[in-house]
Amino acid sequence: MTNLPVQTKTLDLIGNTPLVLLDGPSKAAGCEIWGKCEFANPGASVKDRAALWIIRDAEKRGELKPGGTVVEGTAGNTGIGIALVANALGYKSVIVMPDNQSKEKMDTLRALGAQLVTVPPTKFADPNHFVHTSRRIAEETENAVWANQFDNVANRRAHIEGTAPEIWEQLEGRVHGFTCAVGTGGTLAGVGLGLKERDENIRIALTDPHGAALYNYYENGELQAEGSSVAEGIGQGRITANLEGAPVDTQFRISDAEGLEWVARLLREEGLCLGLSSGINVAGAIALGRQLLADGVENPRVATILCDTGFRYLSTLYNAEWLRAKDLPVFDWLGSASEG
Ligand code: PMP
Repeated sequence: MTNLPVQTKTLDLIGNTPLVLLDGPSKAAGCEIWGKCEFANPGASVKDRAALWIIRDAEKRGELKPGGTVVEGTAGNTGIGIALVANALGYKSVIVMPDNQSKEKMDTLRALGAQLVTVPPTKFADPNHFVHTSRRIAEETENAVWANQFDNVANRRAHIEGTAPEIWEQLEGRVHGFTCAVGTGGTLAGVGLGLKERDENIRIALTDPHGAALYNYYENGELQAEGSSVAEGIGQGRITANLEGAPVDTQFRISDAEGLEWVARLLREEGLCLGLSSGINVAGAIALGRQLLADGVENPRVATILCDTGFRYLSTLYNAEWLRAKDLPVFDWLGSASEG
């Protein structure tokens, strides 16, 4: 018998991702920092989990019928998860995305067979915002469901029932802190609730990028954003249904430059090619580890999420011209090719 994992259904490849000890971040924090390898999901992001739980929930409720269509508005990763799960279960998918997201995500969605609709990036209050557009398309399409990842709590259940118990088991119940950034809030709230069920002393921290409103919300009750971020998939301005009741004990705000530095170091020193939300999460995990140490917790262990693969951002994060145009530090190994 082999000890290697064997699955009889492709959808069982979603979840049960490895947890890896991150050397550089652990040294920087002075304690163990662990990363949950969500890029190892079939769609290469954490959002495969939400896609699977949302689609299975719609089936259970009788809303999604054979031959039906799943419609969703997304920064891209949820769409990729939905397209793959829909393919595996015989459904169609329509994905609405703001057109400022990476080209790789749009190309991937088309390649997977999703119908891709792009809209200009606008504020949530605009009726043409990608979320509202996706809801309208679902209403107008026969035999279609709207996944509604922001306010459908089947999303966070994926993390209450999946990600949290996995982290708990992988760390054999010795975990002191967890943090991640928020897009829908499914991961933060779901892992937070799932871990607190097991040990209410585990410290749950929000790691917010600039340009999001949640840092201030948890700090002083005001949903107020400052600055901006180029990180895709994170940065929330409201309390989604998934975020309601999230057990947030503390909060950190991390700049793109700091997140990018960890993206660079994790690639060059540890061979992990990740997106910017992962770098921001790792910077947040280091801050949380230091805070736990300062509060006298001995040898604290902190876990965070490595949300998606960096291959999704070759034209942005890993492109010197793009970085320069955004006034961000350019990874030195990307060289000066585009300068001449
Ligand atoms: N990172 C990336 C790259 C994402 O696409 C997302 C999802 N939008 C997140 C982080 C945040 O996950 P969640 O929606 O569970 O808050």
